[in-house]
Amino acid sequence: MVFIHDTEQSLRATAALVNTLAETDSEGVDRLLTQEDFDAYLDQYAYTGTFHRDADELDAVRANRPRLRELWEVDRDGAVPLVNAMLRDGQALPQLVIHDGFDWHIHATEPDAPLSVRMLVESAMAFVDVIRSDQWDRVRHCAADDCEAVYIDFSKNGSKRYCDTGNCGNRMNVIAYRRRKAEESA
Ligand SMILES: [Zn+2]
Ligand SMILES: [Zn+2]
Repeated sequence: MVFIHDTEQSLRATAALVNTLAETDSEGVDRLLTQEDFDAYLDQYAYTGTFHRDADELDAVRANRPRLRELWEVDRDGAVPLVNAMLRDGQALPQLVIHDGFDWHIHATEPDAPLSVRMLVESAMAFVDVIRSDQWDRVRHCAADDCEAVYIDFSKNGSKRYCDTGNCGNRMNVIAYRRRKAEESA
């Protein structure tokens, strides 16, 4: 286990949120435009607390994305001021809590804080762990030539090269296979 469970969940949720940006999508499509898109996201990445389910809430969550994406564009030291700013802006105050069948974990925001703020602070707290445990090399971009998606490598040996968004690994294997075949017959 590279990170504790809570941290891994938050990092997965953060990468998935960043990957809804048109800039990281393989077809250049923004995948978080409607409440329906957001519901599908929330089905997969459970957040608790207050939900308003209105346009302001969705806009605020969408606006978090470029800020979170920046974390994939900097090195470990460069991430520190970004993460600190997120914690400061969210007025983070870490508290141990237990609820809804989850074991003790940290909430750094109140349950009635805006969802976008809770999500941003939760992401920031997860990246605190990545920085503190000196695992920044786990913060990666998909190695496929035609893919801009981001991911965090949770594999034991740190060998994951492709994102989770589609089948980049398979696609690149097929391309490599064809290239080899072409070279063989040339
Ligand atoms: Zn909780
Ligand atoms: Zn990819």
